[in-house]
Amino acid sequence: MSGLVDRERDAYRSAHPESQRVHERAEHLFGRVPMTWMSKWSGGFPLAYATAHGNKITDVDGHTYVDFALGDTGAMAGHSPRATVDAVHRRIAVDGGITTMLPTEDAEWVGAELTRRFGLPRWSFTLSATDANRWAVRLARLVTGRPKLLVFSYCYHGSVDETFIVVGPDGKARSRPGNVAPAVDPTQTTRVAEWNDLAAVERALAHGDVAAILAEPALTNIGIVLPEPGFLDGLRELATKYGALLMIDETHTISAGPGGMTARDGLRPDVFIIGKSLGGGIPCGAYGLTEEIADRVHRITATGSADIVDVGGVGGTLAGNALSLAAMRATLDEVLTDDAFAHMIRLAGDYTEDVRRILETADVPWSVTQLGARAEYRFTRPSPRTGGESAAAADDLLDEYMHLYTLNRGILMTPFHNMALMCPDTTDADIARHAEVFEQAVAELVG
Ligand code: PMP
Repeated sequence: MSGLVDRERDAYRSAHPESQRVHERAEHLFGRVPMTWMSKWSGGFPLAYATAHGNKITDVDGHTYVDFALGDTGAMAGHSPRATVDAVHRRIAVDGGITTMLPTEDAEWVGAELTRRFGLPRWSFTLSATDANRWAVRLARLVTGRPKLLVFSYCYHGSVDETFIVVGPDGKARSRPGNVAPAVDPTQTTRVAEWNDLAAVERALAHGDVAAILAEPALTNIGIVLPEPGFLDGLRELATKYGALLMIDETHTISAGPGGMTARDGLRPDVFIIGKSLGGGIPCGAYGLTEEIADRVHRITATGSADIVDVGGVGGTLAGNALSLAAMRATLDEVLTDDAFAHMIRLAGDYTEDVRRILETADVPWSVTQLGARAEYRFTRPSPRTGGESAAAADDLLDEYMHLYTLNRGILMTPFHNMALMCPDTTDADIARHAEVFEQAVAELVG
């Protein structure tokens, strides 16, 4: 195994001298990368890219890749989709005015479209899913008058302090391994349960101090861990029973369809969070509120005890800017359409079937899970039921092998996952190419 990884590392290094030069020259960057996460790419240095269109990326060494990473969902609409580029160009170069702290007419169009897709009637915009979560968590604490969040072990909702908590091996809550210098121990701000464990959720809520359950409707940041039948309904019922809000973060699970799992499965969140994909790559995010929650916030802010129009901790200078909204309008109207989702979901189904067949034929004890336009394999069988189980199946060396093997043969997988995401430009030929490379990777491993 380590011999195979060494071979792939050598192949990567010798094929990417220009990417390596970009990395070595980056003396003014912290960690030699634009953002510290980019050090996560296998091979010792990341690809530096020259061009990206649709689902293809060409690096500075001239190699072109089928991109299944798609910026870890930021580019789910494909790279530089035509309609988004045209709208952005119109906004910035023809009409003018990128950020002004003033509304444009695109905002109400996007709000109405988000209501049509996800159901909630009142929307506010951010520049990232992290900020959408952060601000919505404050509003949840405001309206309930309760201090704590309930999250699931190995969840990820962006760099939101309260969420870096896991269930430890002793069954007790503790700070997530690697949590960078938390201001307070997250056990003071947060309760945590394992995914698919309604009894643990009820025990946590019974303390009476939880403002909101914050959850993806399927875990997607520790492999994909789907909800078992009745789990999401159970969350809704328990939240209502114990006076907590249900906050659903569909930043990744929008892969389930044009209205995410919320529309597909009839979920009824009090607060909805999304980011990444909506702007076709232009930074954006949003949170949505039910009428009732919006009214409760307004009743409290009307008393002057909380400030959401200035420096009270909700909002940001560039959030809701005209550029983000023009990009979101075009992307939602013309790119991430119902037809596009049907195409992407069909391809993810084919991808999943290929991976399943190859694993079965070679009798490799891994599993693969599809969630709409996204699929991910995990180094364990059967599929994990909880975040803790899924975390236990991590294997860094195997991970590096699969990422480098595919990368060296023209397939880009997202570095934080063994995840493949389809975009409107992904083709049957791309799926077939992946299957071919995946089959070779597995054959070399077991052979
Ligand atoms: N929510 C979920 C479910 C996510 O997966 C992520 C990022 N992986 C975020 C929020 C945060 O997104 P961003 O880093 O763009 O703020």
